[in-house]
Amino acid sequence: MRLDPIRVLVTGGAGFIGSALCERLLRDGLEVICVDNFVTGRAANIAHLLAVPGFRLVTHDVIEPLDLPGPLHEIFHLASPASPVDYQRLPLETLRVGSAGTDNMLALARAKNARFLLASTSEVYGDPLEHPQREAYLGNVNTVGPRSVYDEAKRYAEAITAAYHRTYGTDTAIARIFNTFGPRMRLNDGRVVPNFIAQALAGKPFSVNGTGKQTRSLCYVDDMVEALLSLMRSPHHGPVNLGSTEEMAVLDIAGLIADQTGNPLRFVYAPLGQDDPEKRRPDTALAHRLLGWSPAIGIPDGIARTISWFRTDLGRTS
Ligand code: NAD
Ligand code: UDP
Repeated sequence: MRLDPIRVLVTGGAGFIGSALCERLLRDGLEVICVDNFVTGRAANIAHLLAVPGFRLVTHDVIEPLDLPGPLHEIFHLASPASPVDYQRLPLETLRVGSAGTDNMLALARAKNARFLLASTSEVYGDPLEHPQREAYLGNVNTVGPRSVYDEAKRYAEAITAAYHRTYGTDTAIARIFNTFGPRMRLNDGRVVPNFIAQALAGKPFSVNGTGKQTRSLCYVDDMVEALLSLMRSPHHGPVNLGSTEEMAVLDIAGLIADQTGNPLRFVYAPLGQDDPEKRRPDTALAHRLLGWSPAIGIPDGIARTISWFRTDLGRTS
């Protein structure tokens, strides 16, 4: 029986998903160490946690080794720019955090005998030729295109995670996260949901790349946090897809946000970015079988909660 409290490290804990995860872990009474360099995270995301007993913030760039005194039982490694606008603005930082940053956090997990969970991504499948995407699909990534800095960093991160497990017996898990949205995304982070909500709240037309017929499957952040916790607490080592199977065209995402905000459905079109995936939907049979997990919050409900949060956040910052 474990007598000391569970101590958990969350890298990227000041980001969108990381801050929701820190909040959830604290609610369970765990000790949470949030490590972040704020390259895409925000102090405001964790300001309300600073006074919570058991929470500690360490401002650190994980591409440098990290030595923490005391025990550590779990490491959630989320540090990495995630929005295409962010990672194309920060190409070398993204490659380095996925490679050196992941190596450093795996070394820490090994030293502390902690279970390590990598936040990987559906982008390891690139512009997929198989639909929906199963974990066994090996992907279709352009190694030198503008998205490769993220895709290949995460593919390397998966490879080194698997190698630590095989070589040292480090207890590892790999979460292949599909598009996730919700409160605490930056309104200007460039991803489709915050962009469309920002445009709707400003009464502007929706900015659509390409035809808008390309699809994504959107998962609400609270569901994703539950999935990450379940995977961490499972004994599984191989990659597991986590996400919603409700696939929507970009134009339909705009339609939903238009309906909920009353913004008229008008579009301004821009060219589709190079290698922007045409369709994306996970096969989540494995997550369902291993973890008993599937999302509980439907997209319209999640979008309503997100719009409501952005209205409040805009009120705070304007
Ligand atoms: P985010 O940009 O909001 O959060 C990432 C956090 O990592 C930020 O707080 C940032 O400051 C921090 N960070 C980046 N580089 C760092 C470094 N070198 N050292 C320390 N901290 C660093 O992004 P998010 O959407 O919350 O994504 C979190 C994780 O989940 C990422 O690893 C991302 O690749 C993965 N993911 C997210 C999605 C999604 O739809 N949100 C989908 C697939 C995978
Ligand atoms: N997209 C869009 N308008 C925007 C932002 C994004 O049409 O203002 C499109 C983008 O080209 C992509 C999809 O929406 O086809 C999802 O983009 P996002 O950046 O949210 O995530 P990702 O491409 O990483 O799935």
